[in-house]
Amino acid sequence: MRIVITPEKCTGCETCVESCPYTAIVVKEGKAFITEYCQLCRACLGVCPEGAIKEVLEPGETPARKEEETDKYSGVWVFAEQRDGKAASVAYELLGVGRKLADDRHTGLSAVLLGASESEALELIKGGADRVFLSNNTLFGKFNDEPYSQILTLLIREHRPEIVLAGATPIGRSFLPRVAARLRTGLTADCTSLEIDKESGNLLQVRPAFGGNIMATILCPNNRPQMATVRPRVMKRGKRDEHRQGQIIHVKAEGLSSRTRVLDTIKEISDIAVNLQEAEVIVSGGRGLGDKKGFAMLEELAEALGGSIGASRAAVDEGWVPYSHQVGQTGKTVCPKIYIACGISGAVQHLVGMQSSDIIIAINKNPEAPIFGVATYGIVGDVYEVIPMLIKKIKENRSKE
Ligand SMILES: Cc1cc2nc3c(=O)[nH]c(=O)nc-3n(C[C@H](O)[C@H](O)[C@H](O)COP(=O)(O)OP(=O)(O)OC[C@H]3O[C@@H](n4cnc5c(N)ncnc54)[C@H](O)[C@@H]3O)c2cc1C
Repeated sequence: MRIVITPEKCTGCETCVESCPYTAIVVKEGKAFITEYCQLCRACLGVCPEGAIKEVLEPGETPARKEEETDKYSGVWVFAEQRDGKAASVAYELLGVGRKLADDRHTGLSAVLLGASESEALELIKGGADRVFLSNNTLFGKFNDEPYSQILTLLIREHRPEIVLAGATPIGRSFLPRVAARLRTGLTADCTSLEIDKESGNLLQVRPAFGGNIMATILCPNNRPQMATVRPRVMKRGKRDEHRQGQIIHVKAEGLSSRTRVLDTIKEISDIAVNLQEAEVIVSGGRGLGDKKGFAMLEELAEALGGSIGASRAAVDEGWVPYSHQVGQTGKTVCPKIYIACGISGAVQHLVGMQSSDIIIAINKNPEAPIFGVATYGIVGDVYEVIPMLIKKIKENRSKE
């Protein structure tokens, strides 16, 4: 699809220039032109008083679906990715949020599981799914873009879910865009919150935008399904119910093909990364620590609590701690039982990486610091006074045990 301006109709009035969020329309010698910055967002369509701007389809392209067709879609789907035949943790987190969305829409929650066994599908039912589309075809054992996108597209075309969620993992990031493109629908990557708009029933997809400087709510009102990816550890798992019943639908994977073959998968070994994301307690330091020595104090606290060290980007940029410890939008997303933020202001880019933690304890000398807005417990004070006291108390209590 292309957006074109008919020069004969254009009067050079510049109405369209304002409408473009990407400043991709310029007026030269009394005529408007679309530049290479055009993102095909369609914001300019309809603004020209002369009707000079129009959408042109490439050969073989089909026009976007009409709004009324959205009614024919129902149900929330979660793509449950697996590794070595076991559903990944992110699948259960998506079932957690998916359950809430499905209940709000008074519809069912389904999971799609490829390359795994029936016992794994039953686990997904216990994790919140009403039904699981399962294929244990060997074609899906190891992740491969082509057959994965082919089968998911076929299933979505047949069953017409209104919402499809997947993990913002290397797998989800790799093949979900292909599926969305084939279905000619939208895909919002790296969502930090998902909710249903009570009035319209649309999915409100919240994610950082414009370099992380704002949180944008993205809608896909005219096309279905509404597709979104979510990073691991951003959403909370739903409650597991051992007695939950559901349906397993065996999917036939016939006629699928792939031009590529996965020969081997090599795991990257990164102890720190695994430690931080699996840690139940994280003691995190920011610029308020003042210098590198502050992290030695945090390590003592983390050790007393059996936790790991996290950091804000400011602390990483100062060179006090390696990047692998950074929590936030451009670092890791964590969800420990306890997150202790020491001398961290609570910028939105930091919060998106840790706000799902069960308990957040903030220590900051500024009572107005935004971190207190998400904290379960807030301590207004100097980290160099508060933390030694905490370490002393914890050690005293430990010695009594
Ligand atoms: C595109 C983009 C991506 C980003 N990604 C990330 C990211 O992944 N992670 C991240 O963390 N940030 C990220 N940032 C940066 C983010 O915007 C903030 O600049 C950063 O989080 C601030 O770190 P901070 O809270 O440690 O420092 P500051 O904002 O400087 O806050 C320091 C805090 O310490 C307190 N303080 C000072 N002295 C003491 C003391 N002695 N005792 C107690 N409290 C004290 C102060 O009151 C203040 O609240 C990103 C920014 C952008 C634009």
